[in-house]
Amino acid sequence: MRKMLIAGNWKMNKTIPESLELIHALMRKLDSSCPAEVVLIPPFTSLFSVAETLRGSSIQLGAQNLSHLTEGAVTGEISGTQLISVGCRYVLVGHSERRNLFQEDDAVINQKLKTALSEGLHPIFCVGESWQEREAGKTKGVIGNQLKRGLDGLTPMEMGKMTIAYEPVWAIGTGKTAQPEQVQEIHEAIRSELSSQYEPETAKATRIIYGGSVTPDNSPSLMSQPDVDGALVGGASLDAGSFYAIISAIK
Ligand code: PEP
Repeated sequence: MRKMLIAGNWKMNKTIPESLELIHALMRKLDSSCPAEVVLIPPFTSLFSVAETLRGSSIQLGAQNLSHLTEGAVTGEISGTQLISVGCRYVLVGHSERRNLFQEDDAVINQKLKTALSEGLHPIFCVGESWQEREAGKTKGVIGNQLKRGLDGLTPMEMGKMTIAYEPVWAIGTGKTAQPEQVQEIHEAIRSELSSQYEPETAKATRIIYGGSVTPDNSPSLMSQPDVDGALVGGASLDAGSFYAIISAIK
């Protein structure tokens, strides 16, 4: 049985006081009966303060990025071990903003996934097609390649710690959401690709979440699709009321 996961990616938003204001507002709303796993992914600068505030709560902490290297002379980078030491359980890998703005290719993403896993983190591995690729009928091929190359060399045991996030690039931060049926079709295709890379049991047990302009209005229909195991939320996670409404859509 896959537990639903709702993750809020704050991107490069929120100072430390703003971060604390947001999580206090969210914690006032959330109660222990929440059936979903909730993950907050603030900027690096807020991780320590947010971790301190979350201590003892069921909300988990994640980071937006990690280095593919483990330590040493790599100015400006942050290692998986450092993320673990500040209290992170999750880390985003392969987000389209990292792929497009920072030229992260499948080889680096594969290295980051391996490093994250070997350092004890649970990766949220993002895949998704551009609008041009969708228009050209290449969606499943593009995502299949991202999965093959990104997961290359990972064991079924390591897959037990992996969440896949399907994020069509054209839907991220644009207000254009994929239709629930389109999302279900791609999530099914991802599960089938995982079945061919691993055993069907591994594919069945892997969480596949959706991201791309998720809001309180569209989340109930997206989250009710059989292969949708939660959401990766950007913009709407910056407001406690909206993020809470998305979490509340989980039954
Ligand atoms: C994201 O950044 O992963 C995301 C899905 O953003 P938004 O919800 O704003 O589209």
